[in-house]
Amino acid sequence: RKEQLQVLATVEAVTRDGVPFRLAGNISSVKDLEQALKYGAEGAGLFRTEFLYMDRTTFPTEEEQFEIYRQVAEKAGKHSVVIRTLDIGGDKQLEYFELPEEDNPFLGYRAIRISLNSKEMFKTQLTAILRASAFGSLKIMLPMISSLEEVRQAKQILAEAKSDLDERGVVYDNHIPVGVMIEVPAAAAIADLLAKEANFFSIGTNDLVQYVLAVDRMNETIAHMYQPFHPAVLRMLRQAISAALEAGISVSVCGELAGDEKAIPLWLHLGVRDLSMSPQSLLRVKHRILNAVASAGEKVGARCYRLATGTEVEAELTRFAETCI
Ligand code: PEP
Ligand code: MG
Repeated sequence: RKEQLQVLATVEAVTRDGVPFRLAGNISSVKDLEQALKYGAEGAGLFRTEFLYMDRTTFPTEEEQFEIYRQVAEKAGKHSVVIRTLDIGGDKQLEYFELPEEDNPFLGYRAIRISLNSKEMFKTQLTAILRASAFGSLKIMLPMISSLEEVRQAKQILAEAKSDLDERGVVYDNHIPVGVMIEVPAAAAIADLLAKEANFFSIGTNDLVQYVLAVDRMNETIAHMYQPFHPAVLRMLRQAISAALEAGISVSVCGELAGDEKAIPLWLHLGVRDLSMSPQSLLRVKHRILNAVASAGEKVGARCYRLATGTEVEAELTRFAETCI
């Protein structure tokens, strides 16, 4: 089965009636990128950089980070790699960086909140990404954004990193796109405002689902309540995606939902054509896209928006999935 799917690696991801998708990989290392490319990924839509910071005793230096970002930029070739700045806190800790004890770590000191408060650390990462941007097509993505000020502050620090590089006489992509992850309900709610400051959106459904439904994504007791197809999640998706399309910026989905082939009708209906997923899901999702009729899927997606519960939506999507094997 796996070998059968492997022949699809070089096939374009297009529905039977000609609607193209771009499928990219979620990666945490150069090795992951190689694997994703082997499965036909068109670049990486999410590079989780926290793994560069883990299992060591000090922050990675600019040089160490540059080396890795340069490698992914070069390996991706004509495709782009979206580098997400450090997303620690929540469930991820660093041995050498003390974070406060918190009652609710997922609602606490996490991701961009830490970066904006540890300016030198953040600037080091941005500088390394900028330097690597001269070697391929890189994009910067900000995690856990919940306000416009955070985006502005991050861009300000990026501007400082750029002018430092100018002084050092180092070249970089001066037009490197800066995107925002939509993974907090507040970001979905102000998506129209964020779209004015961002070059692209990427929707992180793993966190978005947990925050919209107030269901801890790690808590097994309430795992049955973690419903990606809950109407409240669907509405958040629509709000964010419509805002991006209206503003003319690109939008992709990089949470686990992107790798769930049942969700394809939703993307068809909402106008998302760009999905990033774990490398293992790429060929399976492509296979489903190749077998789907977009015009039929779109109708199913529209119908999902008229249903009242996550269970009904999932049943509707499952029925459609079974018709396109
Ligand atoms: C997400 O939240 O959907 C996401 C892609 O980021 P992570 O899973 O790393 O939190
Ligand atoms: Mg997340």
